[in-house]
Amino acid sequence: MPFEYTSTEDLRKGYDELQKTLLEGKTLPLAFRRAQLLRVARMFQENNVALTDALTADLGRHKLEISLPEIGPIVSGAVRAAESLEEWNKPEKPQVEEWRSSWDTTIYSAPKGVVLIIGPWNYPYVTIMLPLIGAIAAGCTCIVKPSEFNPSCAQLLAELFPKYLDQTAYRIVNGAGAEATALLNLKWDHIFFTGSKAVGGIVAAAAVKNVTPVTLELGSKSPVFIDAENTDLELAAKRILWGKQQNAGQICVAPDYILVPRGHQDATVEAFKKAYQSLWPHPQGALDPLSEMGAILNSTHHARLMKLLGRTKGTLVHGGNTEGTRRIEPALVANVTLDDALMESEIFGPIIPIVPVEDVQEAMKIIRERPVPLVIYVFTNSDHTKDKFLASTKSGTLVLNDTFVQLGVHEMPFGGQGDSGYGSYLGKFSFDTFVHRRSYINVPPAAEPFMQHRYPPYTEEAFEAIAAPANIKIPDQ
Ligand code: NAD
Repeated sequence: MPFEYTSTEDLRKGYDELQKTLLEGKTLPLAFRRAQLLRVARMFQENNVALTDALTADLGRHKLEISLPEIGPIVSGAVRAAESLEEWNKPEKPQVEEWRSSWDTTIYSAPKGVVLIIGPWNYPYVTIMLPLIGAIAAGCTCIVKPSEFNPSCAQLLAELFPKYLDQTAYRIVNGAGAEATALLNLKWDHIFFTGSKAVGGIVAAAAVKNVTPVTLELGSKSPVFIDAENTDLELAAKRILWGKQQNAGQICVAPDYILVPRGHQDATVEAFKKAYQSLWPHPQGALDPLSEMGAILNSTHHARLMKLLGRTKGTLVHGGNTEGTRRIEPALVANVTLDDALMESEIFGPIIPIVPVEDVQEAMKIIRERPVPLVIYVFTNSDHTKDKFLASTKSGTLVLNDTFVQLGVHEMPFGGQGDSGYGSYLGKFSFDTFVHRRSYINVPPAAEPFMQHRYPPYTEEAFEAIAAPANIKIPDQ
């Protein structure tokens, strides 16, 4: 079926239906949420081949690079969420002061309400389905808008959603900027956006009009520091190259540029050449049909990347060949300076600049002086270096000795900080995003003896009693 945009009328009808469903309390019972989560898992397991083919059609990605970061985490994430519903939704009984112990103080995880998820094109399933899993587990109703740059994936999802999920609670809206704007004109209880910083700003500005909470999962230039004297250089190069070539470098967590002590730049280049050979042993390297490396989104992005390669003042030391308008061999560029074209913004493609630095101090200074990245990657065996990065830099995540792995660890939050966004998701953290921690208190009539001092007429004795917390002893140290 050709890619169909959702009409404004259908978009509005879907939204109204979601409001009604929420008001009726249909998404509240845990049994309902469990059934829907298991349907998400089934939707991706039973249609694995069709979903993989659609993504290959849109992005030319190998099925291994689809199964690892997309289908697998969605199926297992939905099942895990279904199995965790009771625990996640269990009301909490906080420890309170003795005299308040009869107040039935409870914290409930209340669904935020009707929520919106907007996704990017580069990881079209996981960036919308993992938040959706959290929204379902939280008891929200939800509209999901995939990117228009994945017509095959978005159309397939539009066909599968009604077959598997309750359409009165979870819907797909397909479209581009105009449809996204129409969605943003509606009032939401949370907006979860993944995409560029520029559009993220538009989303946040629209949300603020209704004081709507927002999660922004944005891109950034994620740096790599190679502590060359304290690491296995060849393994580091292999792991960086593996992470960088996923989806042809079009990843929010791509290792964007490499900082390495100047005296070790040549050895680093050699280590990368070895890694190229081991990853792409075929005659035409990464461009060989047998290599099956992912494609660049379209000719516009291809032209942008080739222009970047043309503008760099660094030295192209390996790769960089191109074929047609969607394939680029990973390009290794040495001697890159901070004012180079390759350092202007997120590369989002298979180009690896190496920026020689004096030492770890200079590397950290460079990172600190630039926008806060989504990830900092450090290759080192030194606890001292790790501690320095923890104490003196900021990022969404700090990963030691590997790349592209953090999205697989669902026991930890994933999200940016500062320039790379705010809020987080994965596993329980996706659920947390879509619930409001609702405090509940029931003050029984029997508590009245503890309340006498608060009522007028006020007395000096009452004041003394009320002022007691302000006069407690503060520890000297
Ligand atoms: P984009 O910002 O261009 O588009 C993202 C979504 O926003 C699309 O669905 C698009 O239709 C929609 N959109 C377009 N105009 C809009 C408007 N005016 N209002 C609201 N929504 C609008 O991003 P992209 O090119 O699809 O994705 C690439 C970017 O996403 C990169 O910067 C990448 O690093 C980032 N990204 C971040 C993460 C993360 O987890 N932090 C994950 C994947 C991608």
